[in-house]
This record gives sequence, structure tokens and C-alpha cells, in this order.
Amino acid sequence: MAGFDPVRLAERLEPLVAPERLGVQLRRYARFRWSRHYGGNVAGDVLGCNLRCAFCWAWRFAYKAVGGVPLAPWEAARRLAAEARGRPRARVARLTGGEPTIGWAHLVELAPRVARLLPHAVFVVETNGILLGAGRVDPLELVARAGRGRVFFRVSIKAATPEAFERLTGAAGWALDLQLRALERLAEAGLEPGRDYRPALVLGFEPPEAVARLLERLEAIDPRLPAVVEPEPVRVYPHVERLMRARGVWPRYLE
Ligand code: SF4
Repeated sequence: MAGFDPVRLAERLEPLVAPERLGVQLRRYARFRWSRHYGGNVAGDVLGCNLRCAFCWAWRFAYKAVGGVPLAPWEAARRLAAEARGRPRARVARLTGGEPTIGWAHLVELAPRVARLLPHAVFVVETNGILLGAGRVDPLELVARAGRGRVFFRVSIKAATPEAFERLTGAAGWALDLQLRALERLAEAGLEPGRDYRPALVLGFEPPEAVARLLERLEAIDPRLPAVVEPEPVRVYPHVERLMRARGVWPRYLE
């Protein structure tokens, strides 16, 4: 079966996971929490994603389009700030879980509020980059609203080849190019690898040669990129193991 179009899926999901109320775009959130990544951070997990990764740790809400709590940008910012209260190590506030760029108008309103309420924190957008790469959203809009140095894009590249991308995400293999195009757009916007954005790379499903070729493609986008790639090994929680077994994929290093 051919993979689906993740840009079209995002279009279909947006009114469900980011409904409008009185001219304000809300976003459905599954939860807010403190987590140890980045040396300690507050996280908002959003509902809904336009990929269907076989290794998704968040699939129980990333695959959903309804449920959670729809919040206005100022409500979400307050929830993040509340999680950070009493935690001086909260130098990062992030949106993760599903795909935060679905509901861009919400994100654009949220980022400056987070910058104001958490003046010592960087706002990290953990994204699959599909909508950035498709030119549906403008990263500079977010930077302009929050301030340079206050927003960081972490683009999770799901595979090194279109074939593996399709097998692992369910989306059409050509969409891997959109993920790479997202990195190009961030570079074209004058943002700096490592300071303003970085690629993360899901590892474990492809041979090292395929990964090496992908790193060459990253180098062609910006020679500094390979040095800042964050390896993203799959975390095999029981619910992730169930999903991977159902989809017939398994990391090579666990075989
Ligand atoms: S892009 Fe992220 S949230 Fe979406 S399905 Fe893949 S791993 Fe899950």
C-alpha cells in the first residue's frame, strides 16, 4: 500500500486538534509535565500528528485527533509556567508528543508568552518538520514573535532513505525530502545549527551506509550540521514494543 500524504493529513487534522474559538486558535493538549531531558524541562504534550511512526513513544495521543484539553495560547503558557514553578533548572520549555506545528497560529501566539513567563527558558519546538519543509509555516515568524535565541527547532528525521521512511512512518517516501527541506529552510532563514536548530536522527533501522549518505546530505545543507545531529535511539517501552511488533519493525541492534 502506498504511503499517505502527511501534508494533507495535517490539513485534515488541524480543525480537530487546533480548533478555533472566537478567532483564537486553540490546541488540544494531552498533559503538561516536568521531564529530565535537556537537563530538566517543562513539556506540553500535544495531541495529533501527521505521521504514524512505528516507534512512536507518544502514539496513544499522537495518533489521536480528539480528546485532551483544548487550550488558548495564554492558557498553555500558564500551564507550562506552573510546571516550572519551584524548579530553577527549568531552562527549557518544549512542545512535544504529537506535532506542534499543526496549529501554527496557536504556536505563534504561545511562543512570545512562554518567553515572557519563563524569561530564562528557551522554547523548544520538537517537530517532524513536514509542514516547515512544505512551506506551510514560516520559522522566522516564530523567531520574530519570541525573540532570537528564545526559540529552538528540533527536527526529528525519521529515516535515512525514502523506503525506510515509508515503512517506518506510514507516510509516502517522498516526504523524507520535506524533512530535509525543513533544515534547508531553517538554514536559509539565517538560523544557526546547534544554537537555533538541530536535526535529530532516528537510528537503529537502517545500515550504517544509509546513515552515512544521509549525513552527507545534511553536510550539503550546512557543513556544520553533521556535528550537531542528535542521535535518537528508539526507547522500547512496553507500549512501543507492542506497536513495533504489530507493524513488523524492530531495531537492528535489538535483533
Ligand atoms: S512524528 Fe513524532 S509524534 Fe508523530 S508519530 Fe512520529 S514519533 Fe510520534
